[in-house]
Amino acid sequence: MTHSQKRLRFSFVASVVSALFGVAQVQAQGVLNIYSARHYQTDEALYTDFTKQTGIKINRLDGKEEELVERIKNEGASSPADVLITVDAARLEIADKAGLFQPLKSALLDARIPEALRTPTWAAFSTRARVVVYNKATVNAEWVQTYEDLANPRLKNQICVRSGAHPYNLSLGAAMLAHNGEAKTEEWARGLVANFARAPKGGDPDPLKAVAAGECGVAISNSYYLARLMRSTKPEDQQVVRSLGVVWPNQKTWGTHINVSGAGIAKHAPNRDSAVKFLEYLASDSAQAYFAEGNNEWPVVKSVQVKNPALDTLGPFKPDTLPIGQLAGNTALAQRVYDRAGWR
Ligand code: FE
Repeated sequence: MTHSQKRLRFSFVASVVSALFGVAQVQAQGVLNIYSARHYQTDEALYTDFTKQTGIKINRLDGKEEELVERIKNEGASSPADVLITVDAARLEIADKAGLFQPLKSALLDARIPEALRTPTWAAFSTRARVVVYNKATVNAEWVQTYEDLANPRLKNQICVRSGAHPYNLSLGAAMLAHNGEAKTEEWARGLVANFARAPKGGDPDPLKAVAAGECGVAISNSYYLARLMRSTKPEDQQVVRSLGVVWPNQKTWGTHINVSGAGIAKHAPNRDSAVKFLEYLASDSAQAYFAEGNNEWPVVKSVQVKNPALDTLGPFKPDTLPIGQLAGNTALAQRVYDRAGWR
């Protein structure tokens, strides 16, 4: 067993639930093997609820995206994987390009999920936005109204952001490529790098704290990290939130870049019917609210409402309407552009 395989953990939540409820209530109606790179504690309730509704027992393999993709590749035609769930279009694209998914055919998903949030092989089940955050005491909100603004020399030594190799930033670059073209995106990335306050480090939360501490003036972060801080009862988190201003970028142009949590059915899924049922379940009203709410995201099914004080406070915004499949297809080029621009 390799080191990476050791880090993968099997979870048999559903079987525990079956034991609790007894076989009379939960008839064994098959199994479903989910490989998940989405690590939110609250997702547990989703799996439990699916089993309650369908009697289908879930075996879950949690791991890092790269490990799961590698594993499914190595398992080949005998892979037990039915469903791969992960976050970010850049990662779904890697799995798709590796040929790990089969065509996704479901009239229900077609009806529930907007076309721009589906591809022929995977679908999005929740969305998150990539927002600009600034220190209210040192930065004027007018300076940071667009992603493009962040490359303005006026913001020299102000920007804190995680690595350009991270999927969240690759997807942002992919959107920039679609809207502004390759030359302008590279120029933008160079300008952004020239404005860094420090070398990229950590995840999205680090730059948020660095901005609040005055170490930098501006950060780029996924919306749910901000919502998490807003909902935190820790005084230090509330202090961070008080220092920050938040901008929905590009409201007057192409809209704020959004990304997704998504899933597809594995090419050699031994339990294909259960896999379709599970993805259809994720698009149901209750699962949508739960799936999104569990990580402070927005549901993809338009009619579903979530009651989330942090998301309500952040307010409505105009999202980029670029089809997610087109965005995903640009992520490999985004990496090359960032490499040339020196965004490590
Ligand atoms: Fe994240």
